[in-house]
Amino acid sequence: MSTDTPDTPPSPLERDIQRRRTFAIISHPDAGKTTLTEKLLLFSGAIQIAGSVKARKASRHATSDWMEIEKQRGISVASSVMQMEYGDCVINLLDTPGHQDFSEDTYRVLTAVDAALMVVDAANGVEEQTLRLLKVCRARNTPIITFVNKMDREVKEPLALLDEIEQTLGMSLVPMTWPVGMGKSFRGVMDLQHDRMRVFKAGADKMENAGDEVVDGLSNPILAERYGLDFQNASGEMELLREATPALDREAFLSGRQSPLFFGSAVNNFGVQEVLDALVALAPPPGERQAQERTVQPTEPKFTGVVFKVQANMDPAHRDRIAFVRVSSGRFQRGMRLKVTRNGKEIRPQTVVSFLSQRRELVDDAVAGDIIGIPNHGVLQLGDTLTEGEMLHYTGLPFFAPESFRTVELRDPLRSKQLRQGLQQLGEEGAIQVFTPVAGGSLMLGAIGQLQFEVVLHRLKGEYGVEARLDPCRFSIARWITCADEAKLKKFIDSEPLRIAHDVVGAPAFMVQYSSDLRVTQERVPDIQFHSMREHS
Ligand code: GDP
Repeated sequence: MSTDTPDTPPSPLERDIQRRRTFAIISHPDAGKTTLTEKLLLFSGAIQIAGSVKARKASRHATSDWMEIEKQRGISVASSVMQMEYGDCVINLLDTPGHQDFSEDTYRVLTAVDAALMVVDAANGVEEQTLRLLKVCRARNTPIITFVNKMDREVKEPLALLDEIEQTLGMSLVPMTWPVGMGKSFRGVMDLQHDRMRVFKAGADKMENAGDEVVDGLSNPILAERYGLDFQNASGEMELLREATPALDREAFLSGRQSPLFFGSAVNNFGVQEVLDALVALAPPPGERQAQERTVQPTEPKFTGVVFKVQANMDPAHRDRIAFVRVSSGRFQRGMRLKVTRNGKEIRPQTVVSFLSQRRELVDDAVAGDIIGIPNHGVLQLGDTLTEGEMLHYTGLPFFAPESFRTVELRDPLRSKQLRQGLQQLGEEGAIQVFTPVAGGSLMLGAIGQLQFEVVLHRLKGEYGVEARLDPCRFSIARWITCADEAKLKKFIDSEPLRIAHDVVGAPAFMVQYSSDLRVTQERVPDIQFHSMREHS
């Protein structure tokens, strides 16, 4: 973010934006994301008692059970975005669904943040799901802070772990703290920045760091006396590291090439404070955003925002949908008129909500970096850009080509209108991808993960009163097609009526059973581009 000259005092808007830190917390299931999230909220004072985030925990493990997914969806409303104040900063924390079948949704959440906090289980190292998410962060150059959790367990040797994370993620880690011992003999962490040791004490109940003993000076002889071999080993490792790892370079961190590394134990409230401090000190305030037409600076006075997530029927009594909007520039104020640039429609939402400490609250004012929720009945779709009038279209919201397909059949043919309506809405929400064959016939559903199919059947029944059945589909690959020459694209579509379908926003996709079919076609029509990812435009 820049002001014209260093001497110009920042405007109130610039000051507010400079204070924002918007980040996602990512991990493989069970690494401790829920626990850490809760502790971050506790430490920032956003919640008073532990347990409120854990409500989700119960459903987390039953990932193959769609009833549980449903429950989880219900209670994740308030907790998928959490805002808290810490120090002088306003932190927006975005949760990412843990199960890999929802990774598509997660990818889109990652487009709405300026940094990510990665939680790694010290016993398991980098796991598959983390790796997938990290790839998305890397592709977007999102800065990442790494928290190695569960040091109170018998875990991997820290040096080996550091090496493993660096190798797998392809970026260098810069230890900010370093563990002394582990498991039963976990003694605490050396704080390398402040030349002191924070002594570990088990216990989830102690709040803040009032209970943590801090010994100043890592060369203080008392440490070697008290912690003997564990301290000696850690000191030796630290010496090695001092020589082998570069100091933290802010530029390298901000471009995702270096990640500051912290060790701790979330369940014991240990190491959480350092992570919060790092978020405030190191993570960047909201940056510029790319639209088709131009680059938008966060400090531009006019409000703009982008819908990165839509969640339907969160309150069964109202059957509403909430569009989650990342404010990209300016300030949102209640009662504002907004233009949906996809179709030029104007809306004037009255009940826009923010997500303060897990409650939905009416928002009066939100600035770039904040997330607001706009209840609506389908006016807003994933990827929509909202402005005060300018025709802007933000880019970069990804949709991935599904990896499995089903055709959908009705048990009661008289409900076909409801089926179409339900699938249209679920498709717009991004819960599933819906393809309508140009030649007519059954609708096809495409998913990244198997579980999405179960969730959709369940929701069709529960929310739209439609009993549907899913049958095997002859296609296994879909590629969106584009061509610089509209006429050529049309000709290709006309020549392939049985293998082309439109997705929920009307984008044409070419569908085949085998990759060899795809290759042959690509060679035959070199002017047509085949895409495995579609960016919302
Ligand atoms: P998530 O699936 O990533 O959200 O993981 P959770 O936060 O639900 O944690 C998974 C399990 O690990 C739970 O049983 C937690 O109590 C436990 N856990 C979390 N942090 C720690 C820790 O620092 N040490 C130990 N020993 N267990 C932890």
